[in-house]
This record gives sequence, structure tokens and C-alpha cells, in this order.
Amino acid sequence: MSALTDLGVAAIRDGVKGGDFSAREVAEAFNAAIEAARTLNAFVVETPEYALAAADAADADRAAGALKPLSGVPLGIKDLFCTKGVQTIAGSKILQGYEPVYDSTVSANLLAAGAGMLGKLNMDEFAMGSSNETSAFGPALSPWRRNDGGNVALTPGGSSGGSASAVAARLAPGVTGTDTGGSIRQPAAFTGITGIKPTYGRCSRYGIVAFASSLDQAGPMARDVRDCAILLEAMAGFDPKDSTSLKLDVPKWEANLSNNIKGVRVGIPKEYRIKDVPRDIDTMWDEGIAWLRDAGAQIVQVSLPHTKYALPAYYIIAPAEASSNLARYDGVRYGLRVQPDGGNLGDMYEATRAAGFGAEVKRRIMIGTYVLSAGFYDAYFNQAQKVRALIARDFDNVWSECDLLLTPTAPSAAFGLGEKSADPIAMYLNDVFAVPASLAGLPAISVPAGLDGQGLPLGLQIIGRALDEQGVLNAALAFEERAGFTARAEPWW
Ligand code: GLN
Repeated sequence: MSALTDLGVAAIRDGVKGGDFSAREVAEAFNAAIEAARTLNAFVVETPEYALAAADAADADRAAGALKPLSGVPLGIKDLFCTKGVQTIAGSKILQGYEPVYDSTVSANLLAAGAGMLGKLNMDEFAMGSSNETSAFGPALSPWRRNDGGNVALTPGGSSGGSASAVAARLAPGVTGTDTGGSIRQPAAFTGITGIKPTYGRCSRYGIVAFASSLDQAGPMARDVRDCAILLEAMAGFDPKDSTSLKLDVPKWEANLSNNIKGVRVGIPKEYRIKDVPRDIDTMWDEGIAWLRDAGAQIVQVSLPHTKYALPAYYIIAPAEASSNLARYDGVRYGLRVQPDGGNLGDMYEATRAAGFGAEVKRRIMIGTYVLSAGFYDAYFNQAQKVRALIARDFDNVWSECDLLLTPTAPSAAFGLGEKSADPIAMYLNDVFAVPASLAGLPAISVPAGLDGQGLPLGLQIIGRALDEQGVLNAALAFEERAGFTARAEPWW
């Protein structure tokens, strides 16, 4: 395999520009790597011809002196993003065979910036999950293995599991992910890569299959902080087609990237020190604190008193919105249709939804319908919305004491396939550190910190004020330089 697949987004962009290699060579290298790594089940649709066509256009643009920001960079696209003429089924049988007639704004922005598409990436069904095990395509696998001699297949996390696996296994220099309650950050942490969820409204949701609309955000996952800054800059921007899109110019995150965080106040929220978290996570957190202090940050102890209510509030609000969003899959408009013999329209709806949705999606539709029902709306949905406001207020208050927060990304390293799939609550607990920033709509990044005792990557999370992606990225850069994380999974696939 060519060493070109060892390059990240910036290195590919700069190498194509400098004539060190052609965009076509890059696309060919990644196409070959994907083909050789099908065991990982990271890509669910491969589009090598799209990657090559974009590469040829990039090489022509170079010859014409008209390179674009991402010319020559091939990317993987999570299967939640509509891609014109290319199957998009959000990991669900109910969308089987669906080929959108338009591109999501985010993926269109990337292509317009010169990027190529390598294929569509595996994910949990409708982005509901933390392990990629709810996918209709079967789980994506992590390229990582525990160092204890066992051969347990590990989850890459979820829901952006294919995305994480692809970057960690060097099948793509960067990918898109989406994060409703951690789906960019947790898989990034599990696989030793970097992923940022921007402020809610930075990236258009147009053309992204909806899960929980008040929480869903797109973001990049890549090898390092700079690559994430580059990709986010291309993905973000106001879009009149999404009513929650922010009418703001996209900042120059890459140009303004700086590791100078002298005097920046970094808060350590005491509520994130929860018991039963493996000691390695707390140790890594303490190390991260020391690195940021060493970089000139001022460390302050802070409190976010409503943190413990974030997970229950999320698991009411997200299913409520999902139950409404998923009402559209009725066998009439897209994908699967199951028509029972002699059945009427209602029978067709029922049979289609029974056959098309997986167990986790059904569970969430039932919970969501229940918490929105007339008799329980006030007790559950309304209450959860109030809790959400309190959580957002905790963050508003804390910003008078600090500028950023540093926390673990997830309460464990990657777990084995099947280890948590029988127990939904254990699976949901994985999101405990991720959902508060989602409920408050704040930018948050996961950066690899090191390996645990089993040789598996751990990530730490940096959360910032709304719209302060720059502050988050800069602290992440300072952190990344000190962490010096270079470990990678040894190919076995
Ligand atoms: N794991 C969380 C869930 O299952 C988050 C998913 C996401 O962010 N898309 O809802």
C-alpha cells in the first residue's frame, strides 16, 4: 500500500499543490486501501469512480493554476448525508435502495471545494447508537485490538463508527460525521482520531437524514486538529434551506490556528468525575490538565450542577424528536414498501415499518411517542425541556469563571462487539460526557490523549462557548502537541 494513505488532509492538499504527487495517485491509493479493508465494514457504498473524477478535475485545476481549498483531497461521507444518485440509507432497511435526487449542503460544500468522494460510511441506524451495531449493514469494526493477546473485535464507537474506522485505518484522510449526542466525539475517542462538533447552526442540516433536529450537527473527523479546522471551514456556512442555520460568515479557522493559549482559563467540572470510571480515564484527564497548564492555561475548578440530569433529558428529547422525524417512513415516499396481501393502506404502513426499522429505532419511536402523548407530555417532554434550559444555563454561568472546559470524552475505551448491545441503558451511559454540550448546542472536540493499559486510545474533550470554535481548536492544538499521540492500529484486516 502506498504511503500516500499515511497523509492527512493538509499534507495531501499541500502536496498536490506543490506537485509532489498527483491527485489521481492519491485517489488511487485510497481506493485500493478501501478495497483491501472490506473486513472492517467501514464503507457501505464505494464510489472509486467519483474519487477519480474529482482527482482528475483537481489535477486539471492545478495545471490551470486554479486550485480550490480541498483540491485533491478524497473524503468519506457518512451515510446520513444525501448524495445525489448514490444510495443513502442511513443504516436502515427502511430506506433500502433510496438514491437522493440532491446533495446535502455539507457534502455539496465539500465537493464544491474540490474534495472527492470515496464512498458512504457505515453508521448506526438513523444515527441511534454508540457502537455502530444497530446498522442494517452490520457493525463497522475498529482497526484497534486490545494488547492482551485476545482477538476480541472492538466497536469503533457510534453512530459515526464507519467514519472513525475509516480514518483510523487510513482509508480516508478525513470524513464527515454527525453528532446528536456524541456521535462524532465518542467514536473519535475510541479510535485515536480527532473530531469536532461545531456550534449548533454552523453546518446546514439540509439533506442530512434527520434524527433529533434540535441536536443534530455535522462536523469533520480527521487525523489531527488542523485537518479538522480545514474541513470544518469547507463544511460550514449559512444556508437559507435550513431555518436553524446561523447567518454568519465562516471564520478562517485554519489561518487563525495557534497553540498560544497563555492566560486562557480552562475549567475542570467536578461533576464529570464520576465513580466507576476506569482509573486510566481519570489519570489521562489529570495528564491533560497538566499539558494545558504547561501550555500557559490557567486551570480552574468549576461546577456544572445539573450535569447528572443531562443523560435522562437527552434520552427523552432525542427520542421525542425522532418519533416525529421518522413518521415520514411510511412505505409511500422512499425505500422499502411491504404490502400485505389484501391489506389496506394502514396495513401497508404497519408492515413496512415493522420490517424496515430495527429494534433500537422502534424502541426510540415508542419512547418518543409515549413522552409526547397527551397524558405524559408535561411529566416527561416538558420537564426534559426545562432541564435542558438549566443545563444550558450551567454553561452560561460557568463562562464567567473560565473560557473552555476540559473533560474526558467517554467513560471507557472502546468495548467489544456485543458487550453492551443487550443492555440499552449501559449503551446510553456511554454518552454521559458528550450530551451536555449537545443539549446546550456548544462546540466540542475530542482529541486523542494516549493509550490505556490495554493499548486502546483514550480521548479528552474540550468544550467552548457558542461560536468559539477557534478557542476550542487552539486549545486542542496546544493539547495535541503535548500529547504527541502517534500510535496507530497495526493492520490485521
Ligand atoms: N449515542 C447517542 C444516541 O444513541 C448519540 C447518537 C448521535 O450523536 N447521533 O442517541
